[in-house]
Amino acid sequence: MTGRPAFLTSPLLEAAGLPHLFTTRHFPGLERGANGRSPFGAAARALLAERGLLAELPAFARQVHGAEVAEARAGGHAGVADALVSERPGLPLSVFTADCLPIVLFDPEGRRLAVVHAGWRGTVQSVARAAVTALTRAGAPPGGLLAAVGPSIGPCCYEVDLPVIERLRTGFPSAWPTWVTPVGPGKWMLDLWKANEDQLRAAGVAPSRIENPRLCTACRLDLFFSYRREGKGGSLATVAAIPPSS
Ligand SMILES: [Zn+2]
Repeated sequence: MTGRPAFLTSPLLEAAGLPHLFTTRHFPGLERGANGRSPFGAAARALLAERGLLAELPAFARQVHGAEVAEARAGGHAGVADALVSERPGLPLSVFTADCLPIVLFDPEGRRLAVVHAGWRGTVQSVARAAVTALTRAGAPPGGLLAAVGPSIGPCCYEVDLPVIERLRTGFPSAWPTWVTPVGPGKWMLDLWKANEDQLRAAGVAPSRIENPRLCTACRLDLFFSYRREGKGGSLATVAAIPPSS
């Protein structure tokens, strides 16, 4: 990958005809949303419009590192949640991340969409699985879902300590050792990619329908923002919208 692209896309979602993008740090006009104000400034809206992602203003949530799934019915603030679902064509859903995983889930047959924000806290609470459950309750066959993981911190850069490990151990007594690599006394590297891919598979998503380009936000500060590497700063937006029916 060369140059300074404003956003990346997923080949899997492109092939399914889903308008979407994962912003890089070079995407213009994103403002840290405060007080329920839309984080999408004029320059961001212009670029979203070019990509077929502005039939209306994107829906966004106040993200709290939990596992609540909110149904977005209109653009703008959609409540306190770490996953948004919708069946409404044209309504863009968005989540914001800087190391945490953004995950887009799409049911191409039933035309249902979810976007997920999963850091370690959300992963411990199975937020990805909660989003799959919300879609399947609405009628989506889990085996028909497409899942795309966006740029996020990789196992190369994500060192955690005992409090995190204890939560993983409690929540996932058999799986957690496959998600971590010990690197010293009280230190482990955590593979949130594998943890979330495992959760998606456990929820019934077919492995061949899960895509992860394994782009690490902390390794690629030329492209992404990393909370771990840079502290509080910018964040990356993931935006997707069900296309109008043909
Ligand atoms: Zn890395």
